[in-house]
Amino acid sequence: MTNLKYKCIKCGVCCFEIPGAYQKRIPLYPEEVEKLIEIAKERGTKFQVIEDLVFPDILNKNILVITYKIKLDNENKCCPFYETDKGCTIQDIKPLACKAYPLSLKQEDAFHFQISIDPLCNYVLENYEILKDIDLNKIKIIFQEEYKNAEQHLNKNKKLILKIKQLEYLKKIKIIREITIEKFNEYLINWTRVELKV
Ligand code: SF4
Ligand code: SF4
Repeated sequence: MTNLKYKCIKCGVCCFEIPGAYQKRIPLYPEEVEKLIEIAKERGTKFQVIEDLVFPDILNKNILVITYKIKLDNENKCCPFYETDKGCTIQDIKPLACKAYPLSLKQEDAFHFQISIDPLCNYVLENYEILKDIDLNKIKIIFQEEYKNAEQHLNKNKKLILKIKQLEYLKKIKIIREITIEKFNEYLINWTRVELKV
C-alpha cells in the first residue's frame, strides 16, 4: 500500500502543446467554451477552439458536437489563459477537464470512456513506478479532489452519450457506426453543427 498523495508541482506542462505526434487535448463542453469566450473578450485574449468529439447524424445531415478543444496556436503553443509567472489565470473557473487533471477520460470506443491517469503529467512521471499499475480505488485516494472532478466529467460525458442514444431510439437522429475517413471529412465540410448539452 502506498501513502502517495497527489500534489501538483506547478510545472505548467499540462497547459502546453506536447511536441511530436501526440495531440494535446483539453476537452471543453459547449457551455464552458461560452464562458471562456466571455473572459477572453474581457481580457482581449485570442481564444479559439476546434471541434473534438463529434458524431455525424445522417438523418438530419448534422454534425453533433459534444466537446471542443482549445487551439494552442500562439507563439508558445500554450493555453491562452496560461501566464509564465502566474500559471493558470482562470483557476476557479477552469474547465472540468483541467480540474480533473492529471486524471483524464480515456476513450475506449466511440461511446465509452474511462477515468485514467495521464502519463504526460510530470508528477505522474516522477511517481510512475507506483502509479503505472494502480487500480481505481487507489486512484481515488491518491487523487482525491481530481477524482471527484473526473467523475463529474465522466458523468457529464455519459449523460451526453445517453442523450444521443435516446434521440436515436426516438428516431430523431441516426448516427453512423462505420464510416470512411473520406466520407467523414466530406460531412465535416458540408453539414451543419448542432451542439449537444445536458
Ligand atoms: S484553463 Fe488553465 S489549467 Fe486549463 S489548460 Fe488553460 S491555463 Fe492550463
Ligand atoms: S503537468 Fe502535472 S504537475 Fe505539472 S502543472 Fe500539470 S498537473 Fe501539475
